[in-house]
Amino acid sequence: MRVYLDNAASSVLDPEVLEYMLPWYREFHGNPSSVHYHGRNLRSAIEQSRKKIAELTGSSPGEIFFTSGGTEADNMAIRSTVEGLGIRHIVSTRIEHHAVGHCIELLEEKGHAKVTWLDVDSRGHIDLKELREVLKSSPRSLVCLMHANNEIGTMLDLEAVGRICREFDAVYHSDTVQTMGNVKYDTGNLPVDFLTASAHKFYGPKGIGFLYIRKGLKIPPLILGGGQERNMRAGTENVPAIAGMAFALEKCIRNLEEKNEKLWKLKLFLKTELEARIPGVEFNGETAKDNSLVTVLNTFFPIDSADSLLLMNLDIAGISCSGGSACTSGSVKGSHVLAGIGCSAKRSANSVRFSFGVQNTAEELEFTVGKLEEIMKVKTPV
Ligand code: PLP
Repeated sequence: MRVYLDNAASSVLDPEVLEYMLPWYREFHGNPSSVHYHGRNLRSAIEQSRKKIAELTGSSPGEIFFTSGGTEADNMAIRSTVEGLGIRHIVSTRIEHHAVGHCIELLEEKGHAKVTWLDVDSRGHIDLKELREVLKSSPRSLVCLMHANNEIGTMLDLEAVGRICREFDAVYHSDTVQTMGNVKYDTGNLPVDFLTASAHKFYGPKGIGFLYIRKGLKIPPLILGGGQERNMRAGTENVPAIAGMAFALEKCIRNLEEKNEKLWKLKLFLKTELEARIPGVEFNGETAKDNSLVTVLNTFFPIDSADSLLLMNLDIAGISCSGGSACTSGSVKGSHVLAGIGCSAKRSANSVRFSFGVQNTAEELEFTVGKLEEIMKVKTPV
């Protein structure tokens, strides 16, 4: 059996999404910027997709901008806000995805912005009182706080953070790459200015995403060239991927409750079985249904070795998962998120992120726990 439990790194492309995309590759050629028949067909597909995504997120079509994925959307929101709105103070944490963290670090290094790095507790939560105090002394800041952490699954109270931002006239960017498709957003009633999304996290294709920019926020483009995306993002649009992303999001939102219930059951099953059968396992971050991603379970295994090679043993046993974010898997660097919530290097090295998708089954999880029992027997427990 080969089991894929790395869905937070990239989900499985939904076969119906693939079918939906194929005609755009096979039959509709041309460039969407061309004004002839072929171009107009493609333009119409782009605008229909934009409208669909706007409806699904409670936005207006003018607030949705297509990007090459979550990384570009995060970069655009952060770098363009500092450049275009004259904001010189950023508030964030050390456990954001690198698409956010590295952008902020660069702006800090270049002296373009000062940064306040908020503390996070051992489960990955910020202290809202601290955020309020920081914004009180530095109003009109840019606040970058992700809705859900991709490695440990901990979720933030987006509305509470947004309300504090509004109180102090701060611009609020939230990386929603892991929650888009798992949460129904209604941006019209949400105190948030930027949301980011990546289709390959919700059963859509890779290399496509979008940035929601609240109406009235005038930021400059990040990528210059042609006049695509109303002069906000140059480059010929990837029409099949845009259409596929809108369809994938629609499917997720249409089946939201049923889908999330299935994912929650899988997560609970794995958690319960691990606790019952592997002595000493612990979980990093939040694990409850109401404040963690139903898709992520970050687990510490008590092995007496600095580098357990746990992921490699799991891979050999037929199970694909990761030790942190996809970007850190395969790299010798430890997880900045686990370090950020205070895990030792040893705990970090012995932690595995299991992440679930709708195609996973209880049998696959049973197989995984069985293999872990075998692996743990040959390792020396602490
Ligand atoms: N933000 C978060 C929270 C993510 O998990 C990821 C992907 O791992 C990204 C941003 C980057 O998205 P993309 O892979 O579309 O560039």
